[in-house]
Amino acid sequence: MTDTMTPQQRHYCMSRIRSKDTTPEKRVRQWLWQHGYRYRLNVKGVPGKPDIVMRKYRTAIFVNGCFWHGHDVELVVSSEQLVVKSSNCCKIPQTNRDFWVAKIQRNQERDQKNYEILSENGWQVIVLWECQLKPKKLEKTMLQVEIQLHDFYIKTFNHRSKTYIHIEEESLPMVAEEPEEYGQ
Ligand SMILES: [Zn+2]
Repeated sequence: MTDTMTPQQRHYCMSRIRSKDTTPEKRVRQWLWQHGYRYRLNVKGVPGKPDIVMRKYRTAIFVNGCFWHGHDVELVVSSEQLVVKSSNCCKIPQTNRDFWVAKIQRNQERDQKNYEILSENGWQVIVLWECQLKPKKLEKTMLQVEIQLHDFYIKTFNHRSKTYIHIEEESLPMVAEEPEEYGQ
């Protein structure tokens, strides 16, 4: 079999093989763990194979490489032509451009489909980009994640606190008819 791959394509194939445990993903896991959050990896039965699953928060976290997942890359069809706008963190190479565009387009579409399926099943989807997880930006990004986790938790599991508000009147303890005034 002749090797028809360009060095870039070969590099891509190789990188797929060791795509587990990328550094940005490790940083996220480490941060969560150190802040007392527990999660699972490679959970079966959750669509789209999220990188990190937090069942308590019904949240799926994806840690996306900016290049492979086309961070901020715009692919717009204009007069039957595909117009590609690269972004700061995803610059599509000029060499073999069609290959990369097709690859990134497929990845973007697949990602989107996965996010939708999860979302339809009541999951919160958090997408983290490699560029947001650089050491200098990690803390700020993760604090936002933390807010999202709690926000979603409150919205989703709010019924627990409602049971307190909706105590039936008969079950309330007896109280004195005339409340004592303060300061006496
Ligand atoms: Zn990026």
